[in-house]
Amino acid sequence: MMRTTLLAAAAFAIGPLAAAPLALQAQSADQLSAGVRDHVTVDAPAFAITNVTLIDGTGTPAQRGRTVVVRDGRISAVGAAGQVDTSGLEIVNGAGHTLIPGMTGLHNHLYYTAAGGRGMQLNFSAPRLYLGAGVTTVRTTGSRNAYSEINLKNEIDAGRTPGPRIHITAPYITGGQGSTTMTLVNSPEQARRFVAYWAAEGATWLKAYTNVGYEEMAAAIDEAHRLGIKVTGHICSISFTEAVELGFDNIEHGLFTNSDYDPTKERSECPNTYRQYAMSIDPSGPEAQATFSAMVNAGVPMTSTLAVYELFVQDRPTRDPRSLEAMAPEVREAYLEAKENVDRDGWPPEWMDVAMAYEKAFVEAGGLLAFGVDPTGNGGALPGYGDQRNVELLAEAGFTTEEIVQIATLNGARILETDEELGSVEVGKIADLVLIEGDLTVDPSTIRNTVIVFKDGVGYDSASLFEAVKGRVGISQ
Ligand SMILES: [Zn+2]
Repeated sequence: MMRTTLLAAAAFAIGPLAAAPLALQAQSADQLSAGVRDHVTVDAPAFAITNVTLIDGTGTPAQRGRTVVVRDGRISAVGAAGQVDTSGLEIVNGAGHTLIPGMTGLHNHLYYTAAGGRGMQLNFSAPRLYLGAGVTTVRTTGSRNAYSEINLKNEIDAGRTPGPRIHITAPYITGGQGSTTMTLVNSPEQARRFVAYWAAEGATWLKAYTNVGYEEMAAAIDEAHRLGIKVTGHICSISFTEAVELGFDNIEHGLFTNSDYDPTKERSECPNTYRQYAMSIDPSGPEAQATFSAMVNAGVPMTSTLAVYELFVQDRPTRDPRSLEAMAPEVREAYLEAKENVDRDGWPPEWMDVAMAYEKAFVEAGGLLAFGVDPTGNGGALPGYGDQRNVELLAEAGFTTEEIVQIATLNGARILETDEELGSVEVGKIADLVLIEGDLTVDPSTIRNTVIVFKDGVGYDSASLFEAVKGRVGISQ
């Protein structure tokens, strides 16, 4: 009863949000509050980033010695340094740096689960970490406190908090009665009611979880599509192939969550054995190819979340000093303890290789792959830092730098249907750009060296955003 009352009160206070998914009017620096401007390092209405190595997000080879001009928040010229007119412009010297589009994080919760059972909203640290790390757009992909996230999005859009563009996902839906943080949907009628409510409140995506029923999901998807919103899921009771058949618009996570390969699976049930079966398939064999061709033929993309999976695998380099530094002390302590357990009893190291090979094979089969951090599990993959870790892991999986940048930028924008305005460095697009010190084509870990992150053509200082959150991740806010 309490819950209903609180939800109704909140809805009354803020009113239903119009279903405007994205404010594509560029936000200029003078619309920002003083607290946000503290993090701004480039606020000229017109400027040029000169002599940079450009990886434009479209998959074309890196180009050296490029100059990119931004006017009023949009990219107005891209060309060889020396051939682009920069007279009268403020200059950002990009020599020795790489420029990529702002990253699109498709599994980027605003809440966090730390080791030791803590779970909390990170409405202070997550938006700063995402933006500082170069993630200028996030989809929340499952929420535990949707109104808090809607409010945060409004704060960012109004220039009162630094952070990425946010695509709101409704609270999770699942079935059965196991979860205390998700909506337990146990009839098609309830599924429709749930979707209609959250679509009216401003959610543009729906997230299914591991125990949702087939019939309930069919109703939820039908209602979502009728209302113009989309559906993704971390699934199990529905296999990837069943998700395609049901009309999912995206599937999260990859091989670790695919129950297609468990012969004991029954409709609407998540068998205990699915992961063992999944991890024993050959990613280039016929079973995997059957999943891929179903997804490719129906145009269903997959979201890679390697950074969170790595946390459960033995002997992975998951004690990232800057992530540890960002954690609150008690969270850090619990995390390091959890890591010792993982190194002793965690998933076998070769599972990581199989999961990576599966994603490579998916792309080779023509699949559209995007990525996101998923800052859950035992808490080692932080917002932003974990997205950067994904870049390194995709390199370990065998993708080229240009492919990785495309996965991290334009592919996500395609899935969000914002690719006409965002996701690549092309004339006319909104200037969401990441300036990185060093040459990303030489070493993927260069992605950690973000210097200036431009959103709407306003340049934010990465170091200053990171500094603001030190020691704060995992305490409330
Ligand atoms: Zn998740």
